[in-house]
Amino acid sequence: MKTSSGTTGLIQNEPLLWEKGQEGRSGYSMPRRDVPRTKLDERFLGPAPDLPDMSEIDVVRHFTRLSQWNFGVDTGMYPLGSCTMKYNPKINEKMASLPGFAGSHPLLPPRFSQGALQLIYELEKFLAEITGMDAVSVQPAAGAHGELAGMLIVHAYHEKRGKQRSKIIIPDTAHGTNPASAALCGYQPVAVRSNEEGIISPEQVEAVMDEDTAGIMVTNPNTLGLFEKNIKAIADIVHAKGGLVYCDGANMNALMGIVHLGRAGVDVMHLNLHKTFSTPHGGGGPGSGPVCVRKHLEAFLPVPRVVKDGKNYGLTEDLPDSIGKLHPFFGNFGVMIKAYSYIRSLGAGGLKKASQLAVLNANYMKEMLKGTLHLPFDSVCMHECVFSDQNLHDYKVITVDLAKRLMDHGYHPPTIYFPLIVHGAIMIEPCETESKEELDNFIAAVKEIAAEAKTNPENLKNAPTRCKVKRLDETSAARNPCLTG
Ligand SMILES: *Cc1c(COP(=O)(O)O)cnc(C)c1O
Repeated sequence: MKTSSGTTGLIQNEPLLWEKGQEGRSGYSMPRRDVPRTKLDERFLGPAPDLPDMSEIDVVRHFTRLSQWNFGVDTGMYPLGSCTMKYNPKINEKMASLPGFAGSHPLLPPRFSQGALQLIYELEKFLAEITGMDAVSVQPAAGAHGELAGMLIVHAYHEKRGKQRSKIIIPDTAHGTNPASAALCGYQPVAVRSNEEGIISPEQVEAVMDEDTAGIMVTNPNTLGLFEKNIKAIADIVHAKGGLVYCDGANMNALMGIVHLGRAGVDVMHLNLHKTFSTPHGGGGPGSGPVCVRKHLEAFLPVPRVVKDGKNYGLTEDLPDSIGKLHPFFGNFGVMIKAYSYIRSLGAGGLKKASQLAVLNANYMKEMLKGTLHLPFDSVCMHECVFSDQNLHDYKVITVDLAKRLMDHGYHPPTIYFPLIVHGAIMIEPCETESKEELDNFIAAVKEIAAEAKTNPENLKNAPTRCKVKRLDETSAARNPCLTG
């Protein structure tokens, strides 16, 4: 039977435009010519491009179908741990597309950009308050870019004090971008192992901290989804030897309105606006990774900085100790508008509630699944929980099989094989925006798959069976990608 779209449910086969095109068909009509026909000179135009002949509806259907194969938070739960794939209210998109913002040009002088500058200025103030820091620059374009900014600031701070240091302490529960950012600034990462509770203990930091160590980079909550509750004691040890404390705050959605990182001893940190503060991400779109510092590091922030003088907003480059410019103009402005709108529409109480719900949902998930999947660290988690495939090994089933089978149940798989310290990790971040029914449906799907692993493990091995693309040989898929569909 010839398969045609619309008769096979979600399983659609879509030919290439070149396979669909029919010679002579067209999708436009031009007004009748009122000048003599002339042959164009091919020397200037080059040979005609190989484009298929298609009608308008052929093209509309082709691209609409392809768009439906995409999976996103607007189509279903996307519990990708560490990534915070939560639903982002559409009002924030609407604000970002207001003509005054969308049409503003970064080359306009400040006196014609007062609204945009005010938004950046106030957003930086809000983010400072949310984190418990004193000053913020929204210039970095992503989390890793914010880390780089933060580490350049650490570097500039030691340089200014007259003695550069060579090492940086990074726990095994840090995000993989942390050692990379530190290495880019010339620091050699010194690994610290997390303890049996999955967090770092002050004794371990004490053992390695010395006066050649620039500081520590702590991901908090860490990549096991656990709060580093010794952060203050660790900060005291690092400060006593003249080092600085960097906090990777990409997962601030667990802490808003609850933890004051300044009081916990953090000197510099970054946020991910495209995780916590309402910019959809995952497709490589623009992001924003603001860098936030305490007072003693403010002079090193990137330029230009937005300043306020009386009622007027302006820009200054006059910061001799600044690490310089990291991004054209001021960063990704559209992302800032969404974050501003998110913060203003939720208010302080709403932000705190969002964090409480993110933590509640993750703990519900953890408690409901811990009898089904192996839970390596059984303690209260923050916004995500990490399981392993240990219980499934008896049936010769591993994490990737479970992840692929979840796709047959209509879910995007959770993060798998990360963090590296849990063998066969399955890292679930349900996010604050999922309802209890959605969580229960997901939990039921995982339980069904775990039961199936005992009775019909081959169903997991062959999964996904209901998706357009079936089980891929991932090694060849990476080495010899098939780009034609
Ligand atoms: C996502 C994430 C990053 C990196 O952010 P990008 O915007 O992808 O560069 C860094 N640290 C943690 C903890 C993260 O979750």
